Amino acid sequence: MNTFTYLFIIALLSGAFLQWHLGKRHIRHIKSRRAAVPPPFSDNIPIEAHQKAADYNCAKTRTGLVELLISSILLLIWTLGGGLDLLDGVIRSYHLPTLWTGTIFILAVMLISSLLDAPLSAYRAFRMEQQFGFNKMTPGLFITDLLKNTLLALGIGAPLIILVLWFMADAGPWWWLYVWLTWLGFSLIMMWAYPAFIAPLFNQFKPLDNPELATRIEALLDRNGFTSNGIFVMDGSTRSTHGNAYFTGLGANKRIVFFDTLIDELSHDEIEAVLAHELGHFKCNHVKKRIAALGIIFLIGFAALGALIDMPWFYAGLGVTEPSTYLALTLFVLASPAFTFFLQPLFSFISRKHELEADDFAAAQVQPRNLISALVKLYKENANTLTPDPLYSAFHDSHPPAPIRIAHLSPG
Ligand SMILES: [Zn+2]
Repeated sequence: MNTFTYLFIIALLSGAFLQWHLGKRHIRHIKSRRAAVPPPFSDNIPIEAHQKAADYNCAKTRTGLVELLISSILLLIWTLGGGLDLLDGVIRSYHLPTLWTGTIFILAVMLISSLLDAPLSAYRAFRMEQQFGFNKMTPGLFITDLLKNTLLALGIGAPLIILVLWFMADAGPWWWLYVWLTWLGFSLIMMWAYPAFIAPLFNQFKPLDNPELATRIEALLDRNGFTSNGIFVMDGSTRSTHGNAYFTGLGANKRIVFFDTLIDELSHDEIEAVLAHELGHFKCNHVKKRIAALGIIFLIGFAALGALIDMPWFYAGLGVTEPSTYLALTLFVLASPAFTFFLQPLFSFISRKHELEADDFAAAQVQPRNLISALVKLYKENANTLTPDPLYSAFHDSHPPAPIRIAHLSPG
């Protein structure tokens, strides 16, 4: 135990306390507005849908609070409780070269964490989402997903970890810069490769086979000089009834993906409006800004790790007795969210600002009323609450609540 231990505990506890408080406020706020649909929506959202959304959001927030409690306890067990130290001792006892010890250690931490996380994911899908009729996942699919994710993490993660640990051990004082470049290159490659090589392992993607809709979408894309390698419909309905649309990929490998659930629910006018919104994110350079911001944050992070790696108090303060490159990396990844958590309102704020910018772009391309009616349907089908607690929303919401987006799109 040293000063850093106390700083870590204070950051972790105050973050958890704040989240707990916000969650409780959110639930109270929604419950007190459950009895009536808020005025601007009283014509197009039935009271049953409003109450379902209220109950669903309360259940989701409550589950989130339980997960917060469990993850905070697990973090304390890994660090101050000596979990990492214990695992390290076991792997060290095989006297392998340090590079292998480190790689096996990090993979073991990842594997144990994902096994501990599995019951929570199962609860989310098979109890909470099921209860509200959103879940379409079968236990078989859940287990295959888990296996595929684990194999992918091993296949892609292991070479990356070996490379990073090698830089940390042998690349001199600027190793953190090489690690940052590796991270940056890896992220860009993954963005490029994800739609064509990884997403198809989990879902089926079929080209949009509605010629009339495809022509309209292509006209919208052409007008905006946007090149992609196709419009696809994804079988999102195999896992959930929640609907969505997104752009994915990088450079010429960009794709437009609609969930089949969305295609079934929205009219062509509304689909075009949703797509115009997504296109707005590209046109306003939100993707590039995001990559640049993450790049700067990770550069600062790796530079900080470059300084911390030689500080004995960093290891001792977090319950590790035997300093090493791989423990520095693991501690950094596990412990830094306790500190960076307080930046979340800033990221949420920027994200919500981008959403409104994309809405503005869409409103200039299509009739704003088409986007409004699409949003109302999406908020209703996904059971998003129309009445979030303002403070909770400011902290957590990446998208503005429906009333704000719709007021923003409405004339006058
Ligand atoms: Zn958006």
